[in-house]
Amino acid sequence: MLIAVMKERHPREKRVPLIPATAARLVKLGAEVVIESGLGMSCRFDDDEYKEAGATIGSSQEDMLKTADIILRLRKPPKDEVILMKKGCIHVSYLDPFNEGDLVETLRDAHISAISLEMIPRTTVAQKMDVLSSQANLGGYAAVTLAADQLDRTFPMMTTPAGTIKPARVFIIGVGVAGLQAIATAKRLGAIVEAFDTRPVVEEQVRSLGAKFVKVDLGETGQTKDGYAKALTPEQMALQQEGMANACARADVVITTAQLFGRPAPRIIDHTILAQMRPGAVIIDMAVETGGNVEGSEMDTIVEIEGVKILGIANLPGRVATTASQMYSANLGNFVEHFWDKESKLLAVHHENEIMQGALITHNGEIVSKVYKNIMKK
Ligand code: NAD
Repeated sequence: MLIAVMKERHPREKRVPLIPATAARLVKLGAEVVIESGLGMSCRFDDDEYKEAGATIGSSQEDMLKTADIILRLRKPPKDEVILMKKGCIHVSYLDPFNEGDLVETLRDAHISAISLEMIPRTTVAQKMDVLSSQANLGGYAAVTLAADQLDRTFPMMTTPAGTIKPARVFIIGVGVAGLQAIATAKRLGAIVEAFDTRPVVEEQVRSLGAKFVKVDLGETGQTKDGYAKALTPEQMALQQEGMANACARADVVITTAQLFGRPAPRIIDHTILAQMRPGAVIIDMAVETGGNVEGSEMDTIVEIEGVKILGIANLPGRVATTASQMYSANLGNFVEHFWDKESKLLAVHHENEIMQGALITHNGEIVSKVYKNIMKK
């Protein structure tokens, strides 16, 4: 099988989909691996390292798209590349399907088997290929280092001859994968950390990291079978904002990570809360790419409201691009390996497999994902 790995087209994307070590793993499986020249340059992996791993350098982008049986990349494919792909080609990448209805239809019409990595179910078996987790983890880390850089106070307590400096207070809203890593990183830097999530099950995890769980009684909240939060009612949202206000007011840094699967992120911090916060406080809105948790936050801009600096920086994992690439590439390699048939040396698209069922969006000229169809119907 010919596996082509395309360079990222997004001008500010520094992560790369495949590092040479994973290319070597794919070659070992018996695949022919072709990469676009310069694939790894943004992370200092040069073409020669891929060649040493057994890959070849594609002669032209068009040729790679037309001949590949499998295409691997990080971000969604441009439509003008989809129409060049071979019928039956398996395309594996992030796809952002709920916001990319037109692209999904283009993939369907081109008879591409499109795998959306963010749709892989959150099961134990699938953890090794879970790009959402690997990238969110790094996003949580990068959010804290960014906040530490922007705050004009130190995170740890400092006992010096000049006096004792109190530690910074960090409040994390949303304790999924990113939130847990943000708590751990802020703790390591010496901050006093508080956290909140609508899923009460995370209280124990917050405490085990040495942070305090902020309790707000919202009544029944619950989670989906995959562990995702359910949307709150307007009354519960109002209760949450009331409960959050004090924790925000005493924080030097607030990091919001709250997301809802397949829906816009909940708006948690409004102007009233911002007005009660300390001037000079920093908010990192990690949900800015899905609509934002904070009123007034703007993508890739530092906005100042009521003296509070709000940063809605997209692609936080891209700030640690080499580590993020190592993890993404390993996830991708694990995905291919998991579905690789050693006898026939083919990647098998098994419909009955739970992971494939979750991640496969289009196949044989049809949209096959039930989750996608259900969410798009609403
Ligand atoms: P996510 O990115 O979808 O959301 C981030 C967090 O925001 C979640 O914890 C969610 O509960 C929270 N949230 C939503 N609305 C909120 C609100 N109004 N206020 C405060 N918080 C709010 O979450 P994620 O990191 O992708 O994790 C989702 C689930 O998947 C979790 O249960 C996690 O433990 C689980 N998970 C399982 C596996 C696995 O078993 N393979 C791997 C990773 C994650």
